[in-house]
Amino acid sequence: MSDTKRRCWVEINLGIIKENYNFFCGLLKPGQHIMAVVKADAYGHGDKETAKALSECGCGHFAVSNIQEALNIRQMVDYDAEILILGYTPPDFFNDLYKHNITQTILSEEYAGLLAANGKRIKCQFAIDSGMNRIGLDADFPEKCEGIIRRYMDKLDITGMFTHLCVADSFKEEDKVFTENQIKKLKAVSSLVKDLNLKEIHCLNTAGGLWHDVYGSTIRLGIAMYGLKPDYSNVLPNGIRPALSWKSVVSMVKRISRGETIGYGRTFRAQHDMVIATIPTGYADGYDRSLSNNGFVLIKGHKAPITGRVCMDQLMADVTSIPDVRMGDIVTLIGTDGNETISADDMAHIAGTIGYEIVCSISKRVEREFIIGA
Ligand SMILES: *Cc1c(COP(=O)(O)O)cnc(C)c1O
Repeated sequence: MSDTKRRCWVEINLGIIKENYNFFCGLLKPGQHIMAVVKADAYGHGDKETAKALSECGCGHFAVSNIQEALNIRQMVDYDAEILILGYTPPDFFNDLYKHNITQTILSEEYAGLLAANGKRIKCQFAIDSGMNRIGLDADFPEKCEGIIRRYMDKLDITGMFTHLCVADSFKEEDKVFTENQIKKLKAVSSLVKDLNLKEIHCLNTAGGLWHDVYGSTIRLGIAMYGLKPDYSNVLPNGIRPALSWKSVVSMVKRISRGETIGYGRTFRAQHDMVIATIPTGYADGYDRSLSNNGFVLIKGHKAPITGRVCMDQLMADVTSIPDVRMGDIVTLIGTDGNETISADDMAHIAGTIGYEIVCSISKRVEREFIIGA
């Protein structure tokens, strides 16, 4: 396989994202729906294209992290599709929330005051902090939460409230207890405001939805929709597949002799004569530098270990045992080549991070190619 058009690109199979989404729809209880989390450019998968593909499956509910992302999605989906911003919107943009029918998360009592002062009855959902200690009203004081929620019912268009689970991907006894307790705390607040009939009460991310008491109206589905795992130790349901592959090409092949070193810092020293392929992808493309002397790529269906440090725009790999590697040969950084696969989760495990960070970090200069079929 050779490529003469491209340097470094990702292939995103929108059909697989749709299949994964439909799979999770099949697990819902009556009255529940999925909020597709498409923040951070749909975890690097292209937010506009992903939102459009999901709309075609009937998805009418999206979550993003900020106003720019919300406006991106708004162009692609119906005006009445719900878009929830999970994070902070600077007050200067409050008018845009109202104008574009975007729902804002209320981070704190103070933030609720600012949103209300805008005077437009902006659509909002209260964040409830049940142990993450990031955003939200403190669920350890449910009556106080109740008071605040009631105070803003007529000033803002409150459509729901939610909390966020922080160890739902762990099966340690202590963590399971913590998660169940987080869900209990949300239930306690929601029971105090039952009479307000808030449309949505929710707490589940991917891990919560897969492995815990499926409480609430809504599952905020992120990572597994893209076919990746919340934690490396997790096992996803059969049929869930990664939608993204990342490819590059060989730019040069050379022989080096025993004793020579490769790359910056001379961190790799050849123990025998070797054949080395250079690949025009580096950390400026988002290729994690901690894969230096550590990760591997796939060439012609074989693993090629990375030799030396990952550079800004290039990396080098050992192809000594792979026959006849040439300039233009396709290099799989993430994906499958023949019988070998390296997933973003595998890469993350080697690099000491999580699959989320690997896919979110693939930089803008890497071309995105969208595949429609599954
Ligand atoms: C990112 C995010 C999610 C999605 O989490 P996944 O683990 O990707 O499913 C859900 N809820 C909130 C508040 C988030 O920030």
